[in-house]
Order: sequence, then structure tokens, then C-alpha cells
Amino acid sequence: MSIVGIVPAGGSGVRLGARGPKAFAVLGGRCMLEWSVEVLAGACDRVVVAVPPGHDREPDWVAGGPSRSASVRNALDAVPEAQLVVVHDAARPLLTLDLVRRCIAAAPDGGGAIAAAPVTDTVKEADSSGRVVRTLDRASLWSIQTPQVFGADILRGALAVDDATLAAATDDASLVEAAGHTVVVVEASAENFKVTTAADLRRAEGILANRC
Ligand code: C5P
Repeated sequence: MSIVGIVPAGGSGVRLGARGPKAFAVLGGRCMLEWSVEVLAGACDRVVVAVPPGHDREPDWVAGGPSRSASVRNALDAVPEAQLVVVHDAARPLLTLDLVRRCIAAAPDGGGAIAAAPVTDTVKEADSSGRVVRTLDRASLWSIQTPQVFGADILRGALAVDDATLAAATDDASLVEAAGHTVVVVEASAENFKVTTAADLRRAEGILANRC
């Protein structure tokens, strides 16, 4: 089976305050995206990266789109041979090979498997004025991460939606769920967090330094 890794790395990095795209920010002496590509290469036959348009200067780098899901779709279009797809955000450089393997192993035929950490905070829903509407039962809540693993044809079908729907999707699994497919969670560490701010970047750097 042909397993292809897809790394959406087409974000701007505005919140990080970096001069260039977030995925190119230097982390532990290399570009942030390289950490994820290296780990994915341990479990995938090929890894394709969706970078901001104009940065597609390596063979398996493709131009990303205006939204995260559009970037994933562009990358998927470049790998017609893919049978199983492992999507992982460049913004989560603390990925481990163990987590990738567990997500691949858990992916059901005709569905998807997604990394997720149990929610440890109490979660409430509030209206637009800030008034609490209800308190959710956190025992059944998961904080969703990547990697997210799907049959390639399932992901292709799920991404075949209009641009507004693509832009509103904050992960691939929500589109796969909307298309009627089963998605299962795979327990992951909260350490696989998303780098958004400069403080996140420093925290990731500290963790990576301790891993070496
Ligand atoms: O925006 P957010 O930080 O949630 O982005 C998650 C991932 O999606 C990042 O790795 C980012 O580079 C990527 N992305 C993309 N194309 C976009 C926007 C974000 O590949 N247009």
C-alpha cells in the first residue's frame, strides 16, 4: 500500500511574529517543517509539503492554497499514487513516529484515525455576551491534533467541496465526518501541541533539546 505524508505548511505565521512563513521559522537549528517531514518519512513512502505560493522550490513541495484545507487538497492532487494519507501540520513539530504508526494502525477501512488528547480543563459554552450557556461533560471531549490518517479516496471525496466549506474547516476529519465516514480518535500526548506564538516556539525548542 502506498502511504503518503502530507504536511500543510502554507500558513503565514502572523501570530508567531516571524518575518517569513511560520513553517520556515527556525526551531532547534532547522526549519520547523523539517521536524515533521523527518518523522513522517519514517512511516511513509513519500512526503509532500504544501508551502506558501512562491516557496515551492523543492521537488516534493507544492504551492499551498488560501486555506489549510485548500493546501491539503493541492498536496493530495500531486500524489495520485497515494492509497493511505497521513496529514500532519508543520505547526506541530513535536510529532513522534510512535504516534504516526498508531494512527496508521487505527485507521479503519473506509474512515479515518486522528490524534487527540483528552481534555483536562472544564469546558463551558458561552453566548456572544459571555454568559455561560452550559458546562460540557469533559469525559467525552478530546482536543484534536494531527496526524490525521485517511484512505486517500475518502479524503479526496471529502475535500471536493466549495471554497467556503474548505475555508471553514479547521481540520480534515470534520470534512470526512461530514461526508458520512467513521473517524476514530487515537490518544496522543498534549506535548504534540501546535506552535502559534513565540512563547510556543521557545517551549518546543526546550522540549526538543531535552529529547536529543
Ligand atoms: O492556521 P493554523 O495555525 O491552524 O494552521 C495549521 C497548519 O495549516 C499550519 O501548519 C499551517 O502552515 C497550515 N496552513 C496551510 N495553508 C494555509 C493556512 C495554514 O498549509 N493557507
